[in-house]
Amino acid sequence: MYRTHTCGELRLADAGQTVTLAGWVQRIRKMGGMTFVDLRDRYGITQLVADAASDEAVAAAVAGLGREYVIQVTGRVAERQSKNPKMDTGDIEILLDKVNVLNPSEIPPFTIEDVSDGGEELRARYRYLDLRRNPLKNALTLRHRMAHEVRNYLDGEGFMEIETPCLIKSTPEGARDFVVPSRMNPGEFYALPQSPQTFKQLLMVAGYDRYFQIVRCFRDEDLRADRQPEFTQIDCEMSFVEQEDVLNLFEGMMRHLFKAVINVDIAPKIPRMSWYDAMDKYGSDKPDIRFGMEIHEVTRLVQGCGFSVFDSVEYVGAIAVPGAAGYTRKQTDELTEWVKRPQVGAKGLVYIKMNEDGTVKSSVDKFYTEDQLKAVAAEAGAKQGDLLLLLCGPKRKTQTMLGVLRIEMGNRLGFRDPKVFAPLWVVDFPLLEWDDETQRFYAMHHPFTAPKPEHIEWFNSNKKEDLERVCANAYDFVLNGTELGGGSIRIHQADVQKRMFEVLGISPEDADYKFGFIINAFKFGAPPHGGLAFGFDRVCALFGGQETIRDYIAFPKNNMGRDVMLDAPSAIDDIQMDELFLKSVAPEKK
Ligand code: ASP
Repeated sequence: MYRTHTCGELRLADAGQTVTLAGWVQRIRKMGGMTFVDLRDRYGITQLVADAASDEAVAAAVAGLGREYVIQVTGRVAERQSKNPKMDTGDIEILLDKVNVLNPSEIPPFTIEDVSDGGEELRARYRYLDLRRNPLKNALTLRHRMAHEVRNYLDGEGFMEIETPCLIKSTPEGARDFVVPSRMNPGEFYALPQSPQTFKQLLMVAGYDRYFQIVRCFRDEDLRADRQPEFTQIDCEMSFVEQEDVLNLFEGMMRHLFKAVINVDIAPKIPRMSWYDAMDKYGSDKPDIRFGMEIHEVTRLVQGCGFSVFDSVEYVGAIAVPGAAGYTRKQTDELTEWVKRPQVGAKGLVYIKMNEDGTVKSSVDKFYTEDQLKAVAAEAGAKQGDLLLLLCGPKRKTQTMLGVLRIEMGNRLGFRDPKVFAPLWVVDFPLLEWDDETQRFYAMHHPFTAPKPEHIEWFNSNKKEDLERVCANAYDFVLNGTELGGGSIRIHQADVQKRMFEVLGISPEDADYKFGFIINAFKFGAPPHGGLAFGFDRVCALFGGQETIRDYIAFPKNNMGRDVMLDAPSAIDDIQMDELFLKSVAPEKK
């Protein structure tokens, strides 16, 4: 046995015992004739001591130690003179009898401490060293707990975990596929799944009425701030269910996870909001409802007063920022510049200050009387002391910009405490989304989402306005302004699925080539079904109070999709290329 105890285990009650520990040297401190070594493993840190009483071999071995050496030590547990209440093992130390160096270590390129001196790139290159640090260890521990509790809960509800293949034919979810050449089928490619969507529907046809899988998904997207090309989903599907059944069951799962993983009780009923309300009030399909500052339309009140900017637009909206009437000219100028950044995209910002003394001051005083401005303020729910911010333009675009501004103001005012959790279901999404550029409809969720039965007439119409009105029984689970999951009730009739492909401009031949297998399967008794998937990495990150998922993935990629530790992706040799019948025309690397 390499060890009798872990480095996080020993307490005062163990004093007097002779023990053997193994681990990594975290720190070495010399004080007078004494040498203290902090020995670390996954479970904690234990202090080791060599002093004048230690024998020569121990003294020599300790003198030769360096940071991150792997050692095995034997010694007696003793009560510490000066205790460290911050450490679980802080009451004791080990008086060394024997030190055995199992493996020396080069000097690590950065300090393995909670706050490291290593930059992100360096730590990514030595990820296995970074993973020795507590913040990452805690993140992966949380991830493990989460996976365990997901399985616990879903197993208890009669779900079966069934694996689906990674080498498949493309399953479009709106992103590009990663592809894998097939040596045995020259010139042909597999795609890596963007999600197991079609497989889980086929499992429903096969009669496995409650399926789940903690599964890797692959999407070849431009990696916006916090995306990974491969990520993990909690993927679920159920048969003989309506939307209400799915929402209730997964509300139960989230409640269980909050309690079991981070001991948080969430509200007994998770609120629901229609997509239309979410857009109108929060300018986002994933509203952060931890704070108010809702968007109010004020178009009618501000038009016809001679301010041509407002007169010429479809929509004017406002948010009331509580207690911010004291903003200086410099601050409102800075905000104006902020909303003009390309990420927000506004042309300008109008403000109205509802001063504490009852007076009103705005950037459009020339055009409006004080009463008119007060009417706008009343419509937007502003109180004395508040700062009203107005944006204008096309309706949805302006609401979205106001939504971004609202989140920014929420951040600035400290309304977005990561320890406060406000989950929400957003429901009743439109089925389709019109794209002006390509002049066609896209599925807002994915092409297997069913139109609401009561909208089937619009769905069968060829008029754009009708199709735009069709809603789906689609739903998203939103937490603190982040979409954590989403799903829908699916199409289970071959003719409706066919119509869906037609609406999406996919020709019957193309549909048959890409989705023949699912259209066929639906001919053999497909049950009504629906499901959803949660972004597992993101659930972990939010539960851990972090915004970035990278820390919750043992070996993540950077935002160029590279694994800098492996230095992947990389070129393959000519033999491999030949075997796969591939020729590269990639530009030479500089
Ligand atoms: N496959 C969907 C996704 O990855 C989730 C679902 O509809 O179940 O977003």
